Amino acid sequence: MRTPILIVGAGPVGLALAGDLGWRGIPCLLIEKTDGAITQPKMDLVGVRTMEFCRRWGIDDWVRASPYPRDYRQDYVWVSAVTGYEFGREPFPTLDDERCPPQSPEKRERCPQDMFDPILARFARSFPHVTLRYGAELVGFDQDGDGVRARVATSTGEEIIDANYLIGTDGAASTVRGALDIAMSGNPALTYTTNAIFRCPDFNALHDKGEFYRFIIIRPEGTFATIVAINGRDRFRFSIVGNEEKRSYGESEIRAAIVTAMGRDFDFEILSIMPWVRRELVADRYGKGRVFIAGDAAHLTSPTGGFGMNMGIQDAVDLSWKLEAMLKGWGGPRLLDSYEIERRPVAIRNVREASGNLKRMLQPRAAKPPPEAFAPGAAGDAARAEFGRAYTEMMKREWFSIGIHLGYRYEGSPLIVADGTPEPPDEVMDYLPTARPGHRAPHAWLKDGRSTLDLFGRGFVLLRFGNNPPDAAALIPAAQAAHLPLEIIDIPEPAIAALYEKCLVLVRPDGHVAWRGDFLPPDPSQLIATIRGSS
Ligand SMILES: Cc1cc2nc3c(=O)[nH]c(=O)nc-3n(C[C@H](O)[C@H](O)[C@H](O)COP(=O)(O)OP(=O)(O)OC[C@H]3O[C@@H](n4cnc5c(N)ncnc54)[C@H](O)[C@@H]3O)c2cc1C
Repeated sequence: MRTPILIVGAGPVGLALAGDLGWRGIPCLLIEKTDGAITQPKMDLVGVRTMEFCRRWGIDDWVRASPYPRDYRQDYVWVSAVTGYEFGREPFPTLDDERCPPQSPEKRERCPQDMFDPILARFARSFPHVTLRYGAELVGFDQDGDGVRARVATSTGEEIIDANYLIGTDGAASTVRGALDIAMSGNPALTYTTNAIFRCPDFNALHDKGEFYRFIIIRPEGTFATIVAINGRDRFRFSIVGNEEKRSYGESEIRAAIVTAMGRDFDFEILSIMPWVRRELVADRYGKGRVFIAGDAAHLTSPTGGFGMNMGIQDAVDLSWKLEAMLKGWGGPRLLDSYEIERRPVAIRNVREASGNLKRMLQPRAAKPPPEAFAPGAAGDAARAEFGRAYTEMMKREWFSIGIHLGYRYEGSPLIVADGTPEPPDEVMDYLPTARPGHRAPHAWLKDGRSTLDLFGRGFVLLRFGNNPPDAAALIPAAQAAHLPLEIIDIPEPAIAALYEKCLVLVRPDGHVAWRGDFLPPDPSQLIATIRGSS
């Protein structure tokens, strides 16, 4: 069997890659060793950049139509127990009431993995040239300069699949990463954590805190556990946060811990238990030869912040158009090298930020709340208010991280032509849109009601601004000579011209700015050579 691209692992990142390749008209085969059933939904925050990709793919409405209730409040609440004292909260509206930030035509969504993976799978399957095969496990592969030969175990025996490229989106224990002998650097064990999914249909009737997305339970000895309303209805994810010491819990201990977190006994059913290790690791390399890794195969992060899958989908989007370019013949010999150069620094930045979030969440272990904060009466109220104010303030950085989702940039990438402007600060809680090369091309509403982002995705787009835009015709033969897909679009709106700052802005298929200037460079073919990785 032969496929241009073999993707290994149908988690959200493999599914997104298969979908994006399919959307580009590139045939691919995605194999997954399990039957695809999800008993422990991990991710549930679909970040704003991922929603922008979903918009590009035409599936943003599918996410909004997922079964997660759109009228369910999303408050984060810190308590001594669910039925105990409240220290503070960060109120969040329902999904329907939350507004898009001004920097994007989309907003983050809540859509847990057992709802999001099927949406991505449906998207990938909508292309006849994309095949998804469950019950097929990669057991090994060889590669040479011409291709990759994969050995795949199925219920009927072992099969050989030949591919031009193989992409490992096979998660934390990646077979592909292991076979490439790629090490990971960082901290291999931040905490030994245990998650349990439990069902309790009337949970919110049993306490006085109202609808919530997450409880953080802080006891006199410090931060102890979290409870997340995983589907906004009857299922909850309880996590014993744990620490650096390895510790496993039996079901009766977990049951007792859930009762402790609740502050009273109640009826609930434990559906599944998953011990896991929280790590801060980034792969030293993102691929070798014709084989690449993406998603959790390439980086492992504390979930604090909700970055893991979102940055994995960014990996997929970065890699996908480069694979298309190679298969269609317009990618240069160094195009695929830029994948690691662009994406690895983003992973290092994000895993560090996530560990910082974890440290802040666990801070009450170091600076314990005063004993009065757990006592009734006016003195207790005052102590709770004081501790709660400080904790609420400290935790905002985790809840409001638009800079992480939209502000990543590809500084120093060999595909990006720097324009000499200084790199703006990389903020977490703020994101100042900029069309500086390497950054995400900013969103603005066009006169016809579309977003500028709706112009990007397929090939390169040269935006020309102003009523009398500079002549850019010389770029067309240079692009044609290299078979590089290029479209020129004029935008007369002065406000968008001001946002993009230069009269000409060249945007890549992934929506990042490759080059900008007020007139074309003297040798347009050199510009084309740089952006396609052949200079
Ligand atoms: C509690 C928790 C909450 C989280 N919340 C968020 C969140 O809100 N937002 C966010 O962005 N991230 C979140 N994350 C992280 C997120 O879940 C992961 O980053 C994401 O699932 C990674 O996706 P992936 O596709 O790379 O890998 P995975 O989801 O691990 O999928 C890998 C797939 O590969 C398959 N596979 C493995 N080996 C083989 C093989 N040899 N052959 C064939 N198939 C194979 C596996 O069966 C699996 O299906 C959270 C994580 C946890 C633990």
